[in-house]
Amino acid sequence: MQTLVDRHGRTFPYLRLSLTEACNYRCSYCLPDGWRADGGPRFLDADEVRRLVSAFAGLGMWKIRLTGGEPSLRKDLTAIIAAVAATPGVRKIALTTNGCRLPRHLPRWRAAGLTALNISLDSLDRERFRAITGRDHHDDVLAGVDQALAMGFEAVKLNAVLLRDINDDELPRWLDWLRDRPLALRFIELMRTGDNGEYFERHHLGADVIEDRLRAAGWTPCPRAPDAGPAREYSHPDYAGRIGLIAPYSKDFCVGCNRLRVTARGDLRLCLFGDFGVPLRPLLREDGQRDELMQRIRALLGHKAAGHFLHEGKTGITPHLASVGG
Ligand code: SAM
Repeated sequence: MQTLVDRHGRTFPYLRLSLTEACNYRCSYCLPDGWRADGGPRFLDADEVRRLVSAFAGLGMWKIRLTGGEPSLRKDLTAIIAAVAATPGVRKIALTTNGCRLPRHLPRWRAAGLTALNISLDSLDRERFRAITGRDHHDDVLAGVDQALAMGFEAVKLNAVLLRDINDDELPRWLDWLRDRPLALRFIELMRTGDNGEYFERHHLGADVIEDRLRAAGWTPCPRAPDAGPAREYSHPDYAGRIGLIAPYSKDFCVGCNRLRVTARGDLRLCLFGDFGVPLRPLLREDGQRDELMQRIRALLGHKAAGHFLHEGKTGITPHLASVGG
């Protein structure tokens, strides 16, 4: 079995693959005016996705996260999940979703082979949720979360972007909610992107604020799994749920980087905030290109930088996270 290792000694078991840039939400920090088609190349089709995943799996990547934009907007999502699940070497298939379509589709996705879910939920308050996302889907998302818990997924995680003066007072409410729910809530520090500079200045809040409150309430750090995301996780014996903090501005955040990204149009992005993407699409035309594609990916990994420069305000070529796959 091959393993991808970069020149900084980091290994890469984990691919984040965007299936679309389109999103039906209008999150105030991401796509406040909604998504509009830009007339660029179409998104990867199911065969291109299958070939891409086969090559990455051949290089030892065994965890594939499907993301976007909003991946559930793809009509062929169930077929894509099934194709990824059927790829030798793939052991975990996770979906990052805004959750509004969970109640309708989750059983189908589960049957197709989905093993883990990340659901975005920025507030437990319905009105706040509507104000942040521009959509009134709070009930659907909450129903989807409980449905996912009942279906025995390997992991159900919630993502809440931490927003100063918008949702930073909700920790007590989240704690109550997590008392009986065995899922991981992750507070994500707001990241500056090309389009959200002013919003970032107003609403960015360091994750250490929440971390301090958790420690003060008796929460303790959990050990880290090899395929874990970047979250620093905490648990408490009185709570079924766990809480993670994703702090991209913290020192050493990139030391633990274990993932590569491919955009919905087939560009390899070595870093979420990098300055370039490399088109892999020319090598996705037929199954016979797999070896060449694997060699190309391996060679490109040599260009992966030790870290991003987000703390210096350098957001690379990422206007918003929907464009890369958050
Ligand atoms: N539509 C899906 C969803 O809502 O989960 C997947 C894509 S979305 C870009 C992935 C995650 O990135 C969401 O949890 C979203 O809240 C988060 N996100 C988007 N922009 C962000 C930013 N500037 N800083 C931090 N998190 C962000």
